Amino acid sequence: MEKGLLIFILLGGLVFIIWGLPLVIGRRKLICQDRQGTLMTFDDGPSEVTDQLLDVLRACHGQACFFLLGEEMVKRRETLKRIQEEGHGIGLHGYSHKHPLKMTYWEQKKDLERAYQIFKQEGICPSYYRPPHGAYTWASLVFCKKHGLKIVHWTGLVGDWELEEEKTLLDRLVKLSGPGHVLVLHDGTKGKANPLSKFLVPQLVKDLYRELAASPAPLEGWKGL
Ligand SMILES: [Zn+2]
Repeated sequence: MEKGLLIFILLGGLVFIIWGLPLVIGRRKLICQDRQGTLMTFDDGPSEVTDQLLDVLRACHGQACFFLLGEEMVKRRETLKRIQEEGHGIGLHGYSHKHPLKMTYWEQKKDLERAYQIFKQEGICPSYYRPPHGAYTWASLVFCKKHGLKIVHWTGLVGDWELEEEKTLLDRLVKLSGPGHVLVLHDGTKGKANPLSKFLVPQLVKDLYRELAASPAPLEGWKGL
């Protein structure tokens, strides 16, 4: 084999092990594959719309999982407590929402531990993890192992960070629902295209509960995962 080709293969293998393998491992962790219904998750909060969203969930007798950012949690400690008290799943989404692939291993470790400390200060133990941008890294996998966090990736992403028509998003969500499917919406807009988009989310969730009420895979509660 030519020396150049060998170096190319070795470098390719190294790149895959460092960056590709954690992505493959993380994105396979769909812990909900045996569920009969569709599960709902919210990323990037808490924000000024999270309480409104919690009101909708309460009215629909719904439960979801919130993947929270440390930077936002410190601004809205009451909302954080409410998420816990109302029995929703609580997941960690990092502190700053900086892209994990743009941080070194040590920078990301620090970012994750900083977010974890905020939970601890509030007496909350998060159970789940989802990285910003779905970018799993060795730092996040090691962190999850250390703190016993379950990784929850998604099956359905609808682009709710753009300011789309609510009907368009609702149709996409209905199409993406199904047994064991995990839908993602954003009650925060950290790093997203349109800061107004989050204000659509409570109404969207209300309509989604109505649309899926009679479907073979209605929205399921988060308890018990
Ligand atoms: Zn996010």
